[in-house]
Amino acid sequence: MLQNVLRQVVRRSVGSIGARSFANSSFGTARGATSPLTYLSEDELMMKETVAKLAQEQILPLVKKMDEQHQFDPSVIRALFDNGLMGVEVSDEYGGSACNFMTMMLVVEELSKVCPATAAFVDIHNTLVNSLMTKLGTPEQKAKYLPKLCQEYSGSFALSEPSAGSDAFSLKTTAKKDGNHYVLNGTKMWISNSDVSGVFLIMANANPSAGYRGITTFIVEREYEGFTVGKKESKLGICASGTCTLHLDNVRVPEENILGEYGKGYQYAAGFLNEGRIGIGAQMIGLAQGCLDATIPYLLERKQFGADLYSFQGMQHQIATIATEIEAARLLTYNAARLQEAGVPFLKQAAMAKYYASEVAQRTTVKCIDWMGGVGFTKDFPQEKFYRDCKIGAIYEGTTNMQLSTIAKVMKKEYQS
Ligand SMILES: Cc1cc2nc3c(=O)[nH]c(=O)nc-3n(C[C@H](O)[C@H](O)[C@H](O)COP(=O)(O)OP(=O)(O)OC[C@H]3O[C@@H](n4cnc5c(N)ncnc54)[C@H](O)[C@@H]3O)c2cc1C
Repeated sequence: MLQNVLRQVVRRSVGSIGARSFANSSFGTARGATSPLTYLSEDELMMKETVAKLAQEQILPLVKKMDEQHQFDPSVIRALFDNGLMGVEVSDEYGGSACNFMTMMLVVEELSKVCPATAAFVDIHNTLVNSLMTKLGTPEQKAKYLPKLCQEYSGSFALSEPSAGSDAFSLKTTAKKDGNHYVLNGTKMWISNSDVSGVFLIMANANPSAGYRGITTFIVEREYEGFTVGKKESKLGICASGTCTLHLDNVRVPEENILGEYGKGYQYAAGFLNEGRIGIGAQMIGLAQGCLDATIPYLLERKQFGADLYSFQGMQHQIATIATEIEAARLLTYNAARLQEAGVPFLKQAAMAKYYASEVAQRTTVKCIDWMGGVGFTKDFPQEKFYRDCKIGAIYEGTTNMQLSTIAKVMKKEYQS
């Protein structure tokens, strides 16, 4: 039943929105370009509601178990594929859902209200792997990989290394030409989804003498000889999401597996991570809202001094402050998403959205545990998991310091122009 509804959304999305076409979207035409940021098109709204239902019915019952076992339940991964959430923006020609970028953000937000780890899985796969493949792939690469990415296996985006984190373009993985192949050697670290992914986009330097201008993107399949996925990191939060080290030991990659242009990998990584950061903003606002939504009913119910906790003015002022901050983070995130769709610069806005939403998520989860008292500190309630899960928002896809540096850099240019 739910799957039928989603397929309808997908078909409607294909007909009325089309991938990334803001001007032609039903949002744009029905309400005009000056509509409030929180107005969604009918298609966007329908997808949001449908994903919320999917999350409640098929993911929520398994969240605690997946967190404890540090892995996704196979039924959750299958549901994501079956419902078109692993190819949200990919054209239906390749089995995707052909929705717009805003819809992608709504999917992440709704999943994160229930399970931020599932949201990370879907977000990274869609905004980094599918996006690079869709925008840079040759017709052959797209025909080979996109249908599988939409229906069969997840993908991973591998930039970070043990000695290259914030300074990502100092990466050491090399790609040496040998006939019509490249031979890759090196180690990638912190790679999301890599425990289960079938394909990996590996950033390697094919011309170290040219510095970061040698960085090139290679499509590496899990089965390639010399490629191994190490053990999962034991993490504070988003535990169900697998994060592993990748080892490349003389991995022979055919020349036709270069994604995009030789030597442009640093540009692609920087550009697509800018979009990806809006996704992390969406993950963080979903998480904050999910935590607040799980807390308010308890505050209305729990009585101390003969009154429910919500009725104390000291509590109300804190609750109202957090609700306002979540709304502000949502507006920043939605605005960055709409700017991306409109094809205008969004570097500063994306950095602001990610920075602010991750700060708000941290403040929200701390406050919710405070308001719950002792029970908020136990694993019987979801607040402690939201508290652990939110920390990653300030780290991956560029730490908070890196976002602040980006904002300041863009501002300087604006003031100097
Ligand atoms: C769960 C998880 C999933 C991840 N998934 C992926 C993935 O799928 N693909 C991928 O490629 N990477 C992934 N990463 C890596 C992630 O992007 C990096 O951890 C992040 O960029 C920070 O790098 P680092 O950990 O090396 O920290 P460092 O770069 O060592 O930074 C440590 C601290 O120093 C600060 N710092 C560093 N340089 C400066 C500076 N110039 N100015 C001010 N402060 C500075 C940082 O802000 C931070 O506070 C993941 C990480 C985690 C934890």
